[in-house]
Amino acid sequence: MAQRYYIETYGCQMNVADAELMGGVLRREGHERVDDPALADVLIVNTCAIREHAEERVLGRIGQLNRHKLERPDVRLGVAGCVAKELGRELLDRATYVDFVIGPDSYRHLPEVLERVEAGQRVVHDRFNRSENYEDLPPFRLERSSAWVTIMRGCDKFCSYCIVPFTRGREKCRAVEAILEEVRRAVDEGAVEVTLLGQNVNSYRDAGRDFPDLLAAVAGIRGLERLRFTTSHPWDFTPRLVAVIAEHGNVMDHVHLPVQSGSDRILAAMRREYTNEWYRERVSMLREAVPECALSTDVIVGFPGETAADFEATVALMEDIRFNSAYVFLYSPRPHTPAKELADRVPRRTAVERLERLNELQRAIGGAYLRRKVGTRQGVLVHGPAPRGVGLLTGWTEQRETVVFPGDPSLIGKIVSVDVTGLAGITLHGTPRRAERTGSGSVLELPVLAG
Ligand code: SAM
Ligand code: SF4
Repeated sequence: MAQRYYIETYGCQMNVADAELMGGVLRREGHERVDDPALADVLIVNTCAIREHAEERVLGRIGQLNRHKLERPDVRLGVAGCVAKELGRELLDRATYVDFVIGPDSYRHLPEVLERVEAGQRVVHDRFNRSENYEDLPPFRLERSSAWVTIMRGCDKFCSYCIVPFTRGREKCRAVEAILEEVRRAVDEGAVEVTLLGQNVNSYRDAGRDFPDLLAAVAGIRGLERLRFTTSHPWDFTPRLVAVIAEHGNVMDHVHLPVQSGSDRILAAMRREYTNEWYRERVSMLREAVPECALSTDVIVGFPGETAADFEATVALMEDIRFNSAYVFLYSPRPHTPAKELADRVPRRTAVERLERLNELQRAIGGAYLRRKVGTRQGVLVHGPAPRGVGLLTGWTEQRETVVFPGDPSLIGKIVSVDVTGLAGITLHGTPRRAERTGSGSVLELPVLAG
């Protein structure tokens, strides 16, 4: 029986892509997506387990969604994603109203899981499957102009703090041809921008081809205007990859290269496989070849044993490298991870102070960088109406900065040339130029808009 489904997604872009995958599986069965849980027959919470208290947050949210089951007893409630894998059957015990738990390798089985639920069972489908890559299952994309394409699943790095290898399993790479096919299809359906996704895309391998080979092949697809990838692990960030970024105009000048710490001692304890000096060399190599390349990073503060001197090494690295943006996280002890067993915990107050100091430093560095964009002209891929302000659109530049400008909603999904006129917080403001490039690369005349 056709049903209406609602998926609520937390966490990284891999989860966003997985929600589209689940959407594809459900639509093939005739089910229909809705945005409002009050209208849905099947509610799925697609979870993230990266940080502490993730489990409690998931239990809290499913507790709230249970309201819909209480109002309409035929509603079904399921948990997907990393917390589903982490807790498995325990979730059924801790939340008696949960009907099914489905892990990241089991989304193909959603229809049969729902059938078993309809037959009165409570179902857990959460085993790892070494060969599941979902090659044959097209996702149901929520956005036409900007598409996420998963190129690999899982992770083999086992950084000492990270739960991902335990919730998403070992690394599995999709075949080059299947990826090219999916990107071609996305472009045919209107994608202007594609982002290749994996926990560590740089370790991608398929039949003797590596990530630079794949990136170059995808960049060659006709009609693809913007190509991005995330996430890169510094260890596998090679000169060949930098050469591909430099060579292909449609590979965007933006790299997310998580550093995690500036201290060699802490990097070793994190099992990151590189040193501060190695990381700086990768950045120099990238900036030499692609001077305009924007660089973003992730940093963890308060890792066990992080001394004031270790933290100052991170401050120095951030001051020297001057990232365009940085996500700074408080270390969270996570189940299964070796770091959880480490003594010498950093007191929470100290860790929070460090987090605030890095955020403040980054605000100053990022702000200075953004102010330099004022007065420049940027190609902006229009994403949609701006959340605030009538008649305003929002989109992003090649370096992924957000720009707001006046324009007609018919521009959504197109690349518009915008003169940047100001900065508010971390949002650039601008005025569109007369010439506009469409997704197919042709040029249209825009009505002149008051800036
Ligand atoms: N695979 C990517 C990489 O290695 O850079 C990142 C994947 S992870 C989902 C995103 C970020 O979460 C990491 O870069 C790290 O900074 C942060 N993270 C992961 N585990 C964490 C933990 N236990 N505590 C705090 N932050 C964590
Ligand atoms: Fe986690 Fe490290 Fe793998 Fe990234 S590379 S997902 S941080 S284990």
